[in-house]
Amino acid sequence: MFRVAVVGSGPSGVYTAQALVQQTAVPDVRVHVLDRLPCPYGLVRYGVAPDHEKIKSLQGTLRTVLEHERVAFVGNVEAGTPELPARRLLELYHAVVYCTGAAADRRLGVPGEDLPGSFSATEFVSWYSAHPDAAPDGFALGVRSAVVIGVGNVAVDVARILARGAAELLPTDVPQGALDLLSGSTLREVHMVGRRGPSQAKFTTKELRELGSLPDARVSVDPAELALDPAYEDPSELPTALRRNVEVVRGWASAPPSARGRVIRLRFHLRPVELLAEAGRVAAVRFERTVPDGAGGVRGTGSYEDIEAQLVLRSVGYRGTPVPGLPFDPARGTVPHAGGRVLRDGRPSHGEYVAGWIKRGPTGVIGTNRPCAKETVASLLADAGALARREVAGEPLDVLRQSGLRPVQWPGWLAIEAAETALGASLGRRSVKIADWAGLLDAAGDGRV
Ligand SMILES: Cc1cc2nc3c(=O)[nH]c(=O)nc-3n(C[C@H](O)[C@H](O)[C@H](O)COP(=O)(O)OP(=O)(O)OC[C@H]3O[C@@H](n4cnc5c(N)ncnc54)[C@H](O)[C@@H]3O)c2cc1C
Repeated sequence: MFRVAVVGSGPSGVYTAQALVQQTAVPDVRVHVLDRLPCPYGLVRYGVAPDHEKIKSLQGTLRTVLEHERVAFVGNVEAGTPELPARRLLELYHAVVYCTGAAADRRLGVPGEDLPGSFSATEFVSWYSAHPDAAPDGFALGVRSAVVIGVGNVAVDVARILARGAAELLPTDVPQGALDLLSGSTLREVHMVGRRGPSQAKFTTKELRELGSLPDARVSVDPAELALDPAYEDPSELPTALRRNVEVVRGWASAPPSARGRVIRLRFHLRPVELLAEAGRVAAVRFERTVPDGAGGVRGTGSYEDIEAQLVLRSVGYRGTPVPGLPFDPARGTVPHAGGRVLRDGRPSHGEYVAGWIKRGPTGVIGTNRPCAKETVASLLADAGALARREVAGEPLDVLRQSGLRPVQWPGWLAIEAAETALGASLGRRSVKIADWAGLLDAAGDGRV
């Protein structure tokens, strides 16, 4: 038997497990998919927005892999802790594939960033996704104006959730505490602000277009600001995806005014320089206007604009965090590797691999993790002959329990799912996520050991 530990049950971890059990070169592979959370699926459960049901339904595909006879889910087990250091994993498994993601947020690096009322988009997403590490219901939404800094898909997600009415989120699995706060929201304006022009924004057209189809919100853009973008007047030379983005924005610029409730103001050519406080809380964001620098970037103009905001969500990218005991490149926020083989001091580490966001950084869609995982598995299989010669210690789950860990296995996860369905039924809703550690572990019950 050839034992592999996959650390992380997000898309890259599950695609790694799938590639391992689908190949035939090394027949008797057994895969344990470990996760620090008692729930599988990584950001598909805790990142993809609750109103994107089609993408969420990918969990069904991932599920079939975790239910494969040679794959076992082992939740509530964190790698890189004193109970389970990286070297212990190598004693228990012939190979270890780290698929730990890159879910920490990048900083803006401007004064006032940490004022009360200013959060990373990560914190906001974790809250409405019921991540058990999220701050409980700390978002004051009884305010008038929010600023979302950034123009990528995550910025679009958080702007859309802020602009949606709670009734639209009722059929989703959004936790009850978040739904209650969102239904009391008095927000009128959501400003989504980028430092460059619309032809350089990172959102995808489908997500962008969706902002214009919300039942109780309208999108507003300023044609003069858009015209600063050299490709705005004639986007025909742009790559298709960017051209379509510009066309969507141009459509909004020429649309007749609408009286729909909330306004999403898309702003461009503004870069944040400071968050301003009033009575100890954020009250506005100061932006410097920018213009194209002629080399594909922008430069400041020395002219400033303050946008009122009692809530600020910073969405300027994600980065990986180190797993103690594993090499880490702090500049890139990834683990150094060659073809998925972890590099220690520039040389491949025997039996250690990476896949997904912790390998290549936070880019691409869920499907991008599949070829990424396949590349890593190809490297692992090429090494399998040498790896299999190494003796590994007894049954890993027994060893984990002896170290004081209490893994949540598949029946425990199924019990959590059942508890979420029951919680939803008691609230007159479909399945509703449990948002705290105690509730999740309690629901996992006997499936925990
Ligand atoms: C807010 C947000 C929304 C997104 N929406 C979409 C979308 O709509 N469509 C789309 O295609 N893509 C979307 N993406 C991108 C997509 O989620 C990623 O491509 C994908 O999740 C990356 O997969 P991963 O397995 O590398 O990381 P993750 O999904 O982050 O999985 C990592 C897993 O590792 C676990 N873990 C971390 N450290 C440890 C440890 N030390 N020990 C054990 N377990 C550990 C974590 O708990 C987690 O379960 C979104 C991303 C974000 C951030």
